[in-house]
Formats: sequence, structure tokens, C-alpha cells
Amino acid sequence: MERYQHYIGGQWVDPASGDWFDSVNPYTGDVWAKIAKGNAADVDRAVASANNAFESGWADVKPTERGRLLYKLADLIERDAQRLGEIEVRDNGKLIAEMSAQTHYMSQWYRYYGGLADKVEGAVIPTDKAGIFNFTRYEPLGVVAMITAWNSPLLLLSWKLSVALAAGNTAVIKPSEFTSASTLEFMNLIEEAGIPPGVVNTVSGFGQDVGAELVAHPDVAKIAFTGSDRTGQKINKIAASTFKHVTLELGGKSPNIVFEDADIESAVMGAISGIFAATGQTCIAGSRLLLQRSIHDQFVERLIEVAKTAQIGDPMSTDTHVGPVTTPPQYQKILDYIEIAKQDGAKCVLGGQAYTGPAAKGGQFIEPTIFTDVNNKMRIAQEEVFGPLLAVIPFDTEEDAISIGNDVDFGLAAGVWTQDIGRAIRMSEKLRVGTVWVNTYRAVSFTSPFGGYKRSGIGRESGLEAIKQYMQVKSVWIAQQTSPANPFIMR
Ligand code: NAD
Repeated sequence: MERYQHYIGGQWVDPASGDWFDSVNPYTGDVWAKIAKGNAADVDRAVASANNAFESGWADVKPTERGRLLYKLADLIERDAQRLGEIEVRDNGKLIAEMSAQTHYMSQWYRYYGGLADKVEGAVIPTDKAGIFNFTRYEPLGVVAMITAWNSPLLLLSWKLSVALAAGNTAVIKPSEFTSASTLEFMNLIEEAGIPPGVVNTVSGFGQDVGAELVAHPDVAKIAFTGSDRTGQKINKIAASTFKHVTLELGGKSPNIVFEDADIESAVMGAISGIFAATGQTCIAGSRLLLQRSIHDQFVERLIEVAKTAQIGDPMSTDTHVGPVTTPPQYQKILDYIEIAKQDGAKCVLGGQAYTGPAAKGGQFIEPTIFTDVNNKMRIAQEEVFGPLLAVIPFDTEEDAISIGNDVDFGLAAGVWTQDIGRAIRMSEKLRVGTVWVNTYRAVSFTSPFGGYKRSGIGRESGLEAIKQYMQVKSVWIAQQTSPANPFIMR
């Protein structure tokens, strides 16, 4: 049985409480690792270590050198990507094909921000004040607490850690209690890359015991969070009381909108990828499929045909398309939403139940499920399920599609399928979401900002702008000659 301690100040340490919790493989149901159960004392120790590393010099390490360390880390990630991907599958049950692709790809965030580290420039400001020289400089914030969700632990962490370190901050990480192992394993690479002790720390444990303590801690300067909108809301309230910076990457109820002029076969594949990839456990799930009425029946027929070919089973097999649901509460939530949708009058045209066949082994599986006859007021159309449940909603005109697409509290992403370039541009302007994909779905990159409108979050990760969200700007005024001035009026 594996055993994972906290990683604090460059040391592996036992939890202050002496307590451990289980990490369960969602496919076999087996407990495969024991994880340190953190509490306020562990958080204090980790924040002190990160604060000390910040004050004692990490922020003063030249940005080019910080970049060099991030490049080294990127090389180590590539070397170990397959192994890290396998650990993630053991913890979250997502497909090995997806997880190992993610762990390979995440090295790019460290290269991108490693390269950017020494290119964040202040400016000489041409002010209107005579005889005073004014310039700006960008400085790191301090200790950043990174709290992540269970669905893509290392990728979500890398979106934060790469940029935070490049900017000169230090980090205390709290991975999800369901998937802590890959983050703790990753600390070995931090050490091997030569990142100084205390710059990156990880305290594992539960939201209330570790996450909330980090959010309230007076020496934490910023919270970078990925998780549900409800937890994000709580975090934002508490963070406000100590004036912390926040980046919140939250949930979604994204519309995947298909017009009658679309390439139908591509759109069918896009709809399938939007909801059944990752067993629907992705923030960018295209969980509402908006179909123009003229193609509705034909599209649904083909969708069912393709969805029926999805192989359910072992996430470690490259032949599997739909793996288990990661956590028991999530499994129950999906089953509850199937009942809610039925009671609200949606028509289940595929799946609609748990899968308990031989390929299920010890895992909790839900059959790929499609509901038609959904109207946008129903709970299945308004609330994030985070599972393989698709709500199909018909529309008539472009205006209808925009109005239904925007009529939810969330605003993370949207897909638009059309051959009409004018329509593609109009739709991308009118949809109130952080990402619009036209004739594709689920594309993300280190080069492009990612984040939500409305209840889907605050701030952006990835791309050039993100680095300034981990820094603050200082304005410096230097008088070119000393001259006493009237002290009672503003200069
Ligand atoms: P969650 O909100 O339950 O938990 C997320 C993290 O917050 C965990 O580490 C948890 O321990 C911690 N936490 C819980 N309570 C806390 C508290 N009071 N204070 C501080 N931390 C606390 O979310 P989840 O179930 O792990 O993840 C699924 C959610 O994440 C979905 O809503 C999904 O859409 C969202 N998500 C968003 C993105 C994005 O980039 N926008 C990406 C992936 C997942």
C-alpha cells in the first residue's frame, strides 16, 4: 500500500494529527494508498514555509533563472508523464488515453511561463508632472494557495503553479481529497528540478480542514481555485475578509449549438465529445445540446447510433470510451438528476440508468444518457450535473439559440456548429461565455486565456494575461531635484 505524506519545506512530513485517509481506485473499488489528513497546524507550517521561502529570496531569484528551473521541470514532467497519468487514472478513473495526454501536455505550461518569466516589463510613464520621473514595476503577490478539483488534478494545478512560480510567488497546494496522490508524487519532480525548499508545498486533506484554513490564513496573498460554484462562492466571501486576490475556475452548463447548415457528422462527433468524453466529468461539458428544429430528429437518431458504440469499462484500457464515475457522491448525484429530468417531463431516449454489466468490475458506472423534449427551464438544463447526461433542446432562429444559450447562471464555454462565417462571428459576440468553439469542441492551450463569465468564475488562466493576475503593479515616483514645496496641497 502506498503512503503519501505532506510535502512541506522540501521535507516529507507526517500529518500533525497522526491521521490518514484512503485513496480509492474508482474502477476496482480498492483502497490503494493512504494519504496524510491535514489540519490547521499543517496549514500553518506550510504557509510559514512558503512565506519564509518568499521573504528569503525566491522573489529575488532573477526571472531568467526562475524560467530555467521551470524548463527543467517541464523536461522531468515529459520523462514521467505516463507514470503520472497512470496514478491519476488510479485515483479518478478517467481514461488513460486522456490522462497521459494531459500529463504530457501540461509540460507546455511550464515552458510557456518559464519563457515569459523575464518578459514582464513595467513602463516609464510620461506623466504631466514636471521634474518627477515615474515608472512601474510588476511584483509577485507572495504565498498563493492552490486548491484543485478531482477531475484533472495535475493539469488544473499546472495552470496555476507554472504561472505563479514564473511571477515569483511561492505556493501551498491542496489537492482534492479524492485525488491527492498525483500531486504529492509531483513534489518529487519539484525537488529534482532544483526548485528551492519551501517554494512549493503540498498539504493533503479535506476542504473544511485544509482548504478553508488556507483561505482564512492571514499570510496567504491569493487563492487560485478550481472547483464547484458553491465552494467558489464560500471561498470568495472568506477571502474578501482578508483582502486576498482570487482566481476562481468554476462550473458550467455549456450549450453546444448546431445549426441546420452545419456539417452534421462533425457536429454529432462534437456533441458526443462534449458530453461523454471524461464521462461528462468536465467543467466544459457541452451538457445542453441546442438543435435547430429542422435537423432535430435526424440529428438525435445519428447521435444515439454513435453513442451506442461507446465501450464502457476499464479506464486503463485504450479501447474504453466511458469510464467509471470518480466519487460515490458524484455517482448518486447523477442518478438523482436522471430521476429529476424524468419527473420534470424530459424524455429519456438513451441510457437513463446505472451500468452494472461485467465490465463494471468494482466501479460505479452510468450509461451514456440522452434526454429529449427538454425545455431550458428544467433543472436538467439549468444545473451542473458533471456526468454523462445530455439535455437536447430545440430552437428555431439564431436569436432563439442566443437567448436559450445565455439563459443559465453559468458562462464557461459554448460550441457553435455552422458553415456560415457571419453567423459564427455573430454567435461568438453574443454568447456570454469565456470560450466559444466554432466547428470544434474541448480545445484548450497554454497560449489562450481560459475562464468563465457569470457563475463560472472570476479571472483567467493560461495565455499572456494570466501572469499579471499573479503580480501587482507598483508606481514609483522620483523627483529629479529636491525642492521644498507647499506641503498642504497635492503635488
Ligand atoms: P469542490 O468545490 O467540491 O472541491 C474543489 C476543491 O475545494 C477540493 O480540493 C475541496 O477539498 C476544496 N474545498 C471544499 N470545500 C472547501 C472550503 N470550504 N474551503 C476551501 N476549499 C474547499 O469541487 P469538485 O467536486 O472537486 O470538482 C468539481 C467541480 O469543479 C465542478 O463544478 C466543475 O465544473 C469544477 N471544475 C471547474 C474547472 C474550470 O476550470 N472552470 C475545471 C475542472 C472542474
